Amino acid sequence: MRLATFSTGDSPRVGAVVGTSIVDLSAEVGATSMPELIIDWERLRLRVEAVISKNTDHPLSSVRLHAPVLRPGKILAIGLNYSDHCIESGLEIPKEQIWFSKASSAINGPFDPIERPAVSEQLDSECELVAVIGKRCRNVSRSRAREVIFGYCVGNDVSVRDWQLRTSQWVLGKSFDTHAPVGPWITTSDSVEPHGLDIRCLVNGEVRQSSNTRHLVFDCYAQVECLSQAMTLEPGDLLFTGTCGGVGAARRPPVWLRPGDVVRSEIGRLGAIENKVQMGSSEMRIE
Ligand code: MN
Repeated sequence: MRLATFSTGDSPRVGAVVGTSIVDLSAEVGATSMPELIIDWERLRLRVEAVISKNTDHPLSSVRLHAPVLRPGKILAIGLNYSDHCIESGLEIPKEQIWFSKASSAINGPFDPIERPAVSEQLDSECELVAVIGKRCRNVSRSRAREVIFGYCVGNDVSVRDWQLRTSQWVLGKSFDTHAPVGPWITTSDSVEPHGLDIRCLVNGEVRQSSNTRHLVFDCYAQVECLSQAMTLEPGDLLFTGTCGGVGAARRPPVWLRPGDVVRSEIGRLGAIENKVQMGSSEMRIE
């Protein structure tokens, strides 16, 4: 099943994508947000299935799609998790998982613009499989990790390389506003095998990254096992599972995204997101 957060001019609602239509689940089953739908999924699932078999509320082309989880509690991302990306970065394949956070305020819609910061030209993109946590959990074994992943979507771990690498901690360069576009919807875990999906990033139609999620160094389940030894994972938390080779920073000379560029990230049957680069503002703002 494909679940989206969408709007038609008013406040965002949740819906199920069926073919080229979207069924309004806020109206039909009363779930007002994706985290609420996720938390109540076991109870709501049968009702959702019944509703989507007989409704087609909106053509998909007539709605605006938002990030499926509008404000995740956590956005966690793993670094150096495809061997070709390690090699192009001149680094060894890590023996331990390397985790960092992206600020939850960096979340962005699947078709919304991403900002070229006023303070840096080194804007780069990383197409990634994103796992959406479905259950509040701690100390989950790898063999049971599948149970706590609600579903998957496409994400772009947009990165500002000079800000990322000028200190040992990457969080600033990974957390600029708009730099975590995700979507276009969540494909639920029961309808996708996450470790055999083609993954590609195109800039202005040119293929920059191309791999398959079978090449993850640490797979999604190993990631859940590791993270949940440290922290409670909660419904709606997002895990960016790493990027493959082909990033702009590893090219010679490096290739940075520029205003006007269109970045398309696509993963197998999960769909695609597409974000245009626009210049960010340096204006002071205090609200
Ligand atoms: Mn990344």
